[in-house]
Amino acid sequence: MPWDKKQTIEMLSYPRDRMRDGRELDQCSHTGFPDRADPHCRECRYAADCDWLYSYDEFVDLNAKPLEELVAALEFTTGYLEAEMDRIGHDPASCRCEGCTWLQDARRYLTGAGASMPSRR
Ligand SMILES: [Zn+2]
Repeated sequence: MPWDKKQTIEMLSYPRDRMRDGRELDQCSHTGFPDRADPHCRECRYAADCDWLYSYDEFVDLNAKPLEELVAALEFTTGYLEAEMDRIGHDPASCRCEGCTWLQDARRYLTGAGASMPSRR
């Protein structure tokens, strides 16, 4: 497997911030913490984002999670960023903004070509 746990965890931090800030929580009665007992929560458009943030935020011991799960988490956020860049009209192939650059790096990393990529921190 070409992936490294520490690097995978580091790569989760950018989309995590982006996903956290991308939610509109004015209508949320539990400040972004998923509550499956609440039907509004289950139907909310941010439900998947909140679930992800709850599972992979920086207070969770990500080192204790298996690498396969962290890579799957990274794949999920890559899909999120793709949709986000598309929504705001960016083309990651040519744009050099932080989001598009991250997306390009993440795609390379996930296909296994970025194992020697320098840390972004
Ligand atoms: Zn961009």
